[in-house]
Amino acid sequence: MRTTGLTVGEYEIFWLNGGSFKLDGGAMFGPVPKSIWSTRYPVEQNNNILLTASPMLIKGPDSLILVESGIGNKLTAKQRQIFQIQREWDVIGDLKKLGISRHDIDTVVLTHGDWDHAGGIVMTGASGEPELSFPRARHLLQRAEWEDICQPCTRSSAAYWPINTDALNLSSQLVLVEEMATVAPGITVRRTGGHTRGHQVVFIESQGEQAIHLGDLFPTRAHLNPLWVMAYDNFPLEVIERKKKLIHQGMRDQAWFLFYHDPFCEACKFGTDGKPSASWSARTDGA
Ligand SMILES: [Zn+2]
Repeated sequence: MRTTGLTVGEYEIFWLNGGSFKLDGGAMFGPVPKSIWSTRYPVEQNNNILLTASPMLIKGPDSLILVESGIGNKLTAKQRQIFQIQREWDVIGDLKKLGISRHDIDTVVLTHGDWDHAGGIVMTGASGEPELSFPRARHLLQRAEWEDICQPCTRSSAAYWPINTDALNLSSQLVLVEEMATVAPGITVRRTGGHTRGHQVVFIESQGEQAIHLGDLFPTRAHLNPLWVMAYDNFPLEVIERKKKLIHQGMRDQAWFLFYHDPFCEACKFGTDGKPSASWSARTDGA
């Protein structure tokens, strides 16, 4: 991993290893024909594509904020096979490389509760029992998201795994956000819905610079076109409308777009012509 972060004003952003896995490319690009999406994203013969789960540490003068938590270390043999795990979750190890202990994290923001985002908030500890990975952190989720996690419908129960959130439910570390909240000076979360009913995004604004984490509304750089939604999106029309507005806003403000699932590009800025005008790679080893 790269131990110098992307600077946004007084904040520094680091990409951590939250695991990597493979999914069917068709599901990730929803209505887009393979002949088109495969020109923008590498695909294997069997239609699989590689995806990362990259939690980001936002390090500020008085805060250590983690956005998302990766796939975690609790997957069963069957789940590991289904998701073709390529890299093991090692968020704690990556934090150590930055001189940070898991007990130092003060805030965890989850854009939503799907397994590949929330899987790392509870880990199998030394005792073999599940425990909060970041025990001193408050964990921020939208209230609507938490309601659905607690009472998932038939479809969402495939991605909301109780093992990832039960320990949080019992702790006092859960903070439910109503639509919008300020996490630290210049850092806000806002509910968008779309991918899930309570999906939220993160805005970072500091000293005239901006970055936007759109979670699963904009999972990889290849998903720039608002119409390129995923088969996993629960409310695709909402995704299209929100994404269109937010991408327009980010381009206008020359914001960094931060990607959680893209192994080939961690962050980029776009010109008004839609072409990348700057990009950031968090890897030094090409892994
Ligand atoms: Zn995801």
